[in-house]
Amino acid sequence: MITLNENEYSALREQAQQLAKVTDELIAAQSLIKDISESASALIWMSGSDEKYHYFNQAFLEFTGKQLGELAGFGWIDSVYPEDASHCISAYRKAFSEQQSFEVVYRLKRHDGEYRWMICHGAPRFTGEKFVGFIGHCLDFTRHKRNEILGKTRSEALSQVAKGMPLKLILNTIVSGIEEAKSEALCSIQLLEPKTLKLKNGAAPSLPGFYTKEVEKLSAGIGVGSCGTAAITGEVVIAEDLNTHPYWQEFLQLTQKAGLQSCWSAPIFSAQGDILGTLAIYHREPHSPREEDYTIIRHAADLAGIAIDRDRDTERLNQLATTDYLTGLTNRRVFYEKLQSEISRVQRSLNPASLLILDVDHFKAINDRFGHAAGDMALKTFADLIRQRLRDTDVAARLGGEEFALLLPGANAEAAHQFAESLRDVIEQTELDLGEGLSIQVTVSIGIAQITPQSNEEQVMNLADQALYQAKNAGRNQVCVATDHAA
Ligand code: GH3
Ligand code: MG
Ligand code: MG
Repeated sequence: MITLNENEYSALREQAQQLAKVTDELIAAQSLIKDISESASALIWMSGSDEKYHYFNQAFLEFTGKQLGELAGFGWIDSVYPEDASHCISAYRKAFSEQQSFEVVYRLKRHDGEYRWMICHGAPRFTGEKFVGFIGHCLDFTRHKRNEILGKTRSEALSQVAKGMPLKLILNTIVSGIEEAKSEALCSIQLLEPKTLKLKNGAAPSLPGFYTKEVEKLSAGIGVGSCGTAAITGEVVIAEDLNTHPYWQEFLQLTQKAGLQSCWSAPIFSAQGDILGTLAIYHREPHSPREEDYTIIRHAADLAGIAIDRDRDTERLNQLATTDYLTGLTNRRVFYEKLQSEISRVQRSLNPASLLILDVDHFKAINDRFGHAAGDMALKTFADLIRQRLRDTDVAARLGGEEFALLLPGANAEAAHQFAESLRDVIEQTELDLGEGLSIQVTVSIGIAQITPQSNEEQVMNLADQALYQAKNAGRNQVCVATDHAA
C-alpha cells in the first residue's frame, strides 16, 4: 500500500478533477458533433480504415428509407443508380488508396423510388498521423441538375425545330431529355389524329414496342387510360397507381406485361389551342408527381407543341407549293419534275411508262350555263373521279384550266390505252355534282404518248398533246395514242 503525503494527495486529486472535466468536455463535444450530424440536412457518412461504411446520419437513413444495417459496409451501393455505381466505387477506392479528398456525382434512390442527383464530398480522417477512414457528406442538387438538363434539351430541340429537322427526331430529343433528368421515368409523346382520334406514336424510346403498338390501336376518349383522357379533356391526367385507377382497368394486362405502374399525361396544345397530342411520363412503381414534376410536364408539352405546330405548318406549306389549290392534285411544276424522273427511270430500267393528257369537252359551255363556281365544283369532282382510279405509283396533275395529265409508270401504250378507255367511260357515265342539287354529265378527250428511252419531257408532252388534238378532232369523248415518236 502506498501512502501519500498531504501535497501529493492534493496534486492527485487536482489531476483527477481535471481529467473528469476534460472527459466531460469530450463527451459534450462528441454529443454536439452527433447532434449537428444528426440534425443536418446534408447526408453524412463515415467509413473506417477497412474501407467499409459504418455510420450514416439520420438524414441519410430518412432519405433512403433504409436501416443502418442495410446501408452499412457497401449496402448503400444498392441505392445508387445502376449506371452510376461503378464510377462511384472507383472514385471512392482511388481516394482511399491516395488518402485524398474527393468529390463524386451520382444518382441516389430516395425512399419514394425517385433517383436524386447527389454531389458527394469525402475527406480522409486521421488520428495523429494514423489514417482512420473517411468522412463525407452528400448534397441533393437535383433541381439544379434537372434545370441544366432540361435547359440543354430545350435549346437542342428548338435548334432542331429551327433547322427543320424531322419531327420524330425532335420529339425524341424532348423525351430523352426528360428521361435523363428523371432517371426512373419512361417518357413518350403521342400524336392525336384529329379525324380518327387515334394516338400515333411520336416518340417512346424506352417503352416496349408491343405496348406502343397496342396504344396506337386505341381511340382517345374519357376513361381510355391517362393519354386517351388527356387528349379529349385537355387536362393533365394523373394515375398514380394504374392497378387501382378507374381509367386503366381495361388495360391492366398490357401495363403489367410492360411493367408499368404509374402514368401522368399532359395534353399538347397548338398555338391556337387545339389538342395536338399528349406527353406521358410512366413509372415502374406507383408514383405521385411533386410540384416540380408538373412544371417539367407542362414545359415539355409546350416544347412538343412548338415542334408539332412547326411540322404541320411546313407540311401545309409544302402541300401548297406542290398541289393544285382547287383539286388537290399535283401541280404543273411538280408534275414536270416527276415526268423528268420517270423518263430517267425508263432510260435506266427500260420498263415502260405512259403519259396521258386529258381535256374536258366543251367545258366553256358548262361555265356559261351554270356559272364559274359550279364549273369549279365540276372540276373538283372530276379530279376525285380520276384519283379513285389511280395506283399508288401513278401521278395525276392539273396542268391548268380543265386540262389534266396522268403519269402511269409500268404501263406501255396499250395498257395506258385500256386504262384511258375505262376512265373515259366512267367519266361519261358519272353525274358530276355541282352543288345545290345540280349535277351534270361531261365527257373527256384523252391523248396518250408512251415514254421511251429516247424521250424528253417536251417531246413526250407534245406527242400526248397532238394525240389529244386528234381525239378532239375525231369528235371528242375519244382516246387517241400518239404513233409518231418524232415530235
Ligand atoms: P373543248 O376542250 O372541248 O374544245 O372545249 P372547251 O369549252 O373545254 O374549250 P377550251 O379548252 O378552249 O376552254 C376551256 C374553258 O374552261 C375556258 C374556261 O371557261 C374554263 N376554265 C378554265 N379554267 C377554269 C377554272 O379554273 N374554273 C372554271 N370554272 N372554268 C375554267
Ligand atoms: Mg376543254
Ligand atoms: Mg382546254
